[in-house]
Amino acid sequence: MLNKFHYTCIDCGKTIESSKVVYLCDTCQKQNSETQPPYGVLKTEYNYSEIRARLSLVCGDTDKGDNIFNKLENTGFIDILPIKSAQSLPNLKVGNTPLYKISSINNTDFEFDLFLKDDSQNPTFSFKDRASAIVSAYAKENNIDTIVAASTGNAGSSLAGICASQKQRAIIFVPANAPKAKLTQIMMYGAQIVPIAGTYDNAFDLSIEATKKYRWYNRNTAFNPLTIEGKKTVSFELFSQLNQTLPDKIFVPVGDGVIISGVYKGFEDLLNLGIINKIPVIVAVQSTGSNNIINNLHNKHFVSTPSKTIADSISVDIPRNFRMAKKYLLDFAGETISVNDVQIIAASKTLSSNTGIFAEPAAATAFAGFLNYYKNNKLKKDSKNVVLLTGSGLKDLNAVQKIIDIPASIKPDISSVEKFLSEKI
Ligand SMILES: *Cc1c(COP(=O)(O)O)cnc(C)c1O
Repeated sequence: MLNKFHYTCIDCGKTIESSKVVYLCDTCQKQNSETQPPYGVLKTEYNYSEIRARLSLVCGDTDKGDNIFNKLENTGFIDILPIKSAQSLPNLKVGNTPLYKISSINNTDFEFDLFLKDDSQNPTFSFKDRASAIVSAYAKENNIDTIVAASTGNAGSSLAGICASQKQRAIIFVPANAPKAKLTQIMMYGAQIVPIAGTYDNAFDLSIEATKKYRWYNRNTAFNPLTIEGKKTVSFELFSQLNQTLPDKIFVPVGDGVIISGVYKGFEDLLNLGIINKIPVIVAVQSTGSNNIINNLHNKHFVSTPSKTIADSISVDIPRNFRMAKKYLLDFAGETISVNDVQIIAASKTLSSNTGIFAEPAAATAFAGFLNYYKNNKLKKDSKNVVLLTGSGLKDLNAVQKIIDIPASIKPDISSVEKFLSEKI
């Protein structure tokens, strides 16, 4: 049987067989340097016309909802995933996260629909599990038992957790100053941690050097093309949860640019299968303290500005999927917005107190982008807008300490309670 998928290089367009592990296009990666986003990231492609023809045959009465999308969904989208069988996936519940409709904030009703896709509900509490699950399943099918990743924290804690569930070995390179909860997760899941006294970008480059030296299998975001394939599954879910309609706008937090490319890729697969006829407007949201994708979108030469932001998960100097994210944003008229740390933390509080969802700063960044559009009347009446909430607030409690004030304790008697409450109200 022919391989069910192949890769194409997003820079030179070359087709690459998927029969063995590949990361970057061997021609384009020759020009890579430490100061530039890598060339040669691969896009995974399927035989869309064959899949469409095959599924159309098994579709009976289309009036009964027996359409191609339903057929794909019934088998967990396996036809458009880079693995042989859904059995290879972890038994933890990855993806299929809730989509909540929110109709007001601060007692003001919206004139549009807002949906929150709560990906903090993944097993390790971040969106990264979508990518780890596919990479881990691929490793399992190919008898690979050790997987390495560099991470700002979430990809590492995700890989560690998913590998624990799959009886695989994980080795995680992280900046030593990653939030404690994320480091703790990595340790608790029993992975080998390699803390680096440096930035995420240092950890990334080192992990690749070690991968080559020790011949490990590497999950680094974008470097391993299957990470994009895992992340695209959110778009299938959104289409399904919105009763097979498209949202008008999707606000996505952006660091390396893999989640946003995954969101685009999911819709692009549906487009290639003739299931949808356009791609929604995606709004890339970055922190002003680390907006190397937005800053360079129209530049001929990429120039990195060192990152400093509270949103550690999107604090990236050299975005590893810059070229693909840029291509998608330009090809499909994506929009961009940067928000600062003060806005991010304020948005985090607004989100939590209005919805009961506590998101980490990177995820609150997407919500801050939405709030900016809302305040500036940039959302059309009756439009459908989605915010991707990519990680749990419990992963970084430090980030929000400065806007909350946990009161000093009081004596355990009712008069103290009374006094305390009267002072507060
Ligand atoms: C990784 C991550 C992002 C950004 O994803 P990229 O693919 O790096 O752009 C956003 N939010 C959270 C919580 C993350 O962990």
